[in-house]
Amino acid sequence: MTVLQGHGISQGAVHGPIYFFRRSPKPAESARLGCDPESEHKRLAHARAAAAQELLELAGAAETEAGENGAALFEAHAMLLEDEDAVSAADTLISQGHSAEYAVAQAARAAENLLIDTGRPDLYARTADVEDVAERLQRLLSGGQESLLSLPHPVILCAEDLSPSETIHLDKTKILAIATQRGSATSHTAILARTLGIPAVCGLGDELNESLHGQEAILSGDTGQLILNPDPSAMQALDSNLARQTSHQAQCQAMIGLDDCTSDGRPMPICCNIASPADVSAVLANDGHGIGLFRSEFLYLAAGDYPSEEVQFRAYRQVAEAMEGKRVVIRTMDIGADKQIGYFQLRPEENPALGLRAIRLCLARPQMFRTQLRALYRASAYGNIAILFPMIASVWEVQACRKICRQVMEELAEQEIPFDPNIPLGVMIETPAAVMMAPELAGEADFFSVGTNDLTQYTLACDRQCAGLEPYYNPRHPAVLRQLKLAADAAHQAGIPIGICGELAADADLLPTFLALGIDELSVAPASVLLLRAALRGIDSTACDLRLLMG
Ligand code: PEP
Ligand code: MG
Repeated sequence: MTVLQGHGISQGAVHGPIYFFRRSPKPAESARLGCDPESEHKRLAHARAAAAQELLELAGAAETEAGENGAALFEAHAMLLEDEDAVSAADTLISQGHSAEYAVAQAARAAENLLIDTGRPDLYARTADVEDVAERLQRLLSGGQESLLSLPHPVILCAEDLSPSETIHLDKTKILAIATQRGSATSHTAILARTLGIPAVCGLGDELNESLHGQEAILSGDTGQLILNPDPSAMQALDSNLARQTSHQAQCQAMIGLDDCTSDGRPMPICCNIASPADVSAVLANDGHGIGLFRSEFLYLAAGDYPSEEVQFRAYRQVAEAMEGKRVVIRTMDIGADKQIGYFQLRPEENPALGLRAIRLCLARPQMFRTQLRALYRASAYGNIAILFPMIASVWEVQACRKICRQVMEELAEQEIPFDPNIPLGVMIETPAAVMMAPELAGEADFFSVGTNDLTQYTLACDRQCAGLEPYYNPRHPAVLRQLKLAADAAHQAGIPIGICGELAADADLLPTFLALGIDELSVAPASVLLLRAALRGIDSTACDLRLLMG
């Protein structure tokens, strides 16, 4: 038995086999001549069939997450696999004695050159698709792993790290737990694990590697441990841990239907953070007061191409209707930084967290932004929707957003499409600039929502993605808590509410501080709602103070 120690980022304990996911390195393309054409033809045929199967699965998953439009790109890739010119070019090279890898690379290059020679930007953009298909074939030819989607049975998924686009494509029914070499508590993998209620541990280091693939292990998100080949005493400890979890869950269930308020009756609604319409069932099961943050960018991450207005409208409407009149705060997409999407074709940046992300990207691509806002306004006719703008630093950004919202409303009115003309428009407070400008921003916003994950990162100059910075990345730092006070005071001065939707909101030890600050609402992973409600109901709000702000 060996114990690897990391950081627990999502609670709970499980036992199961390890599945180590390795991102295949770009395979070297070999120009080997003198290969046996028959066996190379066979290898390529197998790789093509496996690629077609993967694309079929990806299209199915994208359709479930983001509707028909989401599947379109993977379907287009499947057609490229069958492209007659490319297939015959590869076959000819193989018949001349070249390796299948070389044949695929050359056929792809020829297809790309044809697209480039047209001089048409729309066709030029398709070269990325050709490259993607060629890379998939190369990976399969080099014996690359099956896709994450086709996990054989429930596993403890281990990896160096997982990108947001990889996590969104996971078959969640097959993931018992997640363990990563790197990562941090506020990385999007961690946030997703908490949203799904899957135990997770990060920062396990290089000892977590491929050699562990297939081994039995216990993962505990509470202790941050991955126990390899557990002995009978570790299994016994797990059993009692599971028994504790079950009784704990039963205690939480007793909170269902009770109010989110302190022992002296002060209300503090506890809402939920979600990433997809599929998460609404967890919100309802945990009796969330509403949805305080729908990270809409996951619709874009799940799709193979820009989700259309119709696809987004259906997703937002579905969530609004399922919540039956309870407030649903939908954040406009926050792409960029760690959430990269191939089809956005973003230019590589030296410091992407400080780059063209979130609202900056939306304002730089107004047509795309308009599509999302039209979908949101249309969906507002079917429920209680509010819109939230991320990464705001300046007043002019909110004014620019409001202007586009007005244009969208005028268009919809002209087209006689129903919408709610009074949708509340909120500003995320997640940059120190937004805190300093909070009095002015409060004049432009209907509500504030504090994103403590980014506020901590930008205040403490500390990368939220980076493992090993735990002593520095401290959301409880007085520098962060004092900014909560500045923002809360500005909001209340202007008569607008302020909530917290960053991960700090789930920190039950801070409830007295939040109450003393006058925070009006919290939004947390669905699995944290009942726990927080129980803690809140045990607090006397008249005895809360701001001691933690003193450091
Ligand atoms: C935050 O920054 O706290 C937040 C809620 O947004 P995200 O984690 O998606 O960046
Ligand atoms: Mg943020």
